[in-house]
Amino acid sequence: MKIDKDIQNSWRPKTQMVRGGLNRSEFGETSEAIFATSGYVYGAAEEAEDAFKDRVDRFIYSRFSNPTVDMFQDRMCLIENAPACRATATGMAAVFASMACMVKAGDHVVGSRAVFGSCLYILTEILPRYGVETTIVDGLDLNQWEDALRRPTACVFIETPSNPGLDIIDIAAVSELAHAAGAKVVIDNVFASPVLQKPLELGADIVVYSATKHIDGQGRCMGGAILGSEDYCDNVLKPFMRHTGPSMSPFNAWVLLKGLETLELRIEQHCRNAANAAAFLSGLDGLTRVVYPGLESHPQHELAKRQMKDFGTVVTFDVDGGKERAFRFLNGLRLIDISNNLGDTKSLVTHPATTTHQRLPAEDRAALGISDSLVRLSVGLEDIEDIKEDIAQALASA
Ligand SMILES: *Cc1c(COP(=O)(O)O)cnc(C)c1O
Repeated sequence: MKIDKDIQNSWRPKTQMVRGGLNRSEFGETSEAIFATSGYVYGAAEEAEDAFKDRVDRFIYSRFSNPTVDMFQDRMCLIENAPACRATATGMAAVFASMACMVKAGDHVVGSRAVFGSCLYILTEILPRYGVETTIVDGLDLNQWEDALRRPTACVFIETPSNPGLDIIDIAAVSELAHAAGAKVVIDNVFASPVLQKPLELGADIVVYSATKHIDGQGRCMGGAILGSEDYCDNVLKPFMRHTGPSMSPFNAWVLLKGLETLELRIEQHCRNAANAAAFLSGLDGLTRVVYPGLESHPQHELAKRQMKDFGTVVTFDVDGGKERAFRFLNGLRLIDISNNLGDTKSLVTHPATTTHQRLPAEDRAALGISDSLVRLSVGLEDIEDIKEDIAQALASA
């Protein structure tokens, strides 16, 4: 039984995270059921005909829709305050489908340079192969946006805060320029999560997530989500997804529903730990730079305050002594794990220049501030004193 939409909309966000989209079966289970089924059966041939001719709204095949995945999508809509949502197998499936479904050969797309490596690959390698022309700009420079958006444009793609530089791009300002050029604005909201930043309220049209990150947040499974208007999700995205098949598995939807139930609690504590770690790192010898949007030294600190509810879960810093010392620091950690994932309950550290961003030419890495001494720390939910002690001992031994 689905709960009435108006009732769900009247709930406060914390209630929506726990109960949004809940659709109990006849068995009255407490927790959402996993509908592990690829297909659905019909009582008569006429029912199948009606389903395929869109005369009735029902489940046909799990590449199109599935009850557990629907619950995840409905809960995401409530949390994001978005009219519609489509879940995908991974975050990259969400990024690709969100753009591929609405561009065609001859179209122009503009993206910011400081984005997740695979997103940049889609913008600069895959879309151009299909005849889509991409312009890459420095997301912080509104003049570059203005120049690029003088031409009619189909789509704008932004990641803010960016990975790993933690640049904050002005979503409202870029959306205004993009809309004047006829573009739909897609925001990769992974670093902020729906708890900290609501791009649709700032003027964006479409929000994409890697649910693998904070939404699961416990290192268990992959997933993605695309949110936007009903017209976009139903008429543009749905046919693209239905026929290309990047759908989320019911099991992963169930894991992610459990993740959403504690998302706000976890994000709030992650942010407290990250702010604490950033302040601690700022006072340490042996580092040349600490970047966290919550630090007053961050160049877009004021914008971050306006655009986000808190400053996020990731801190980056440069160790004095280049790659060699950065590696010694990583190898000296006893608690914090070396891993390229982020947004996890476990604190994770990575060296972007040799891992997530190793594919980029050295000059592009330099333009993004990804030096050989840069370390990215995703601050987990362990006791902050243990995190700080581990950082201090690893830095001392490096
Ligand atoms: C991880 C990540 C992605 C890709 O998500 P997957 O679930 O790994 O496919 C996209 N954008 C950002 C900002 C990410 O951190």
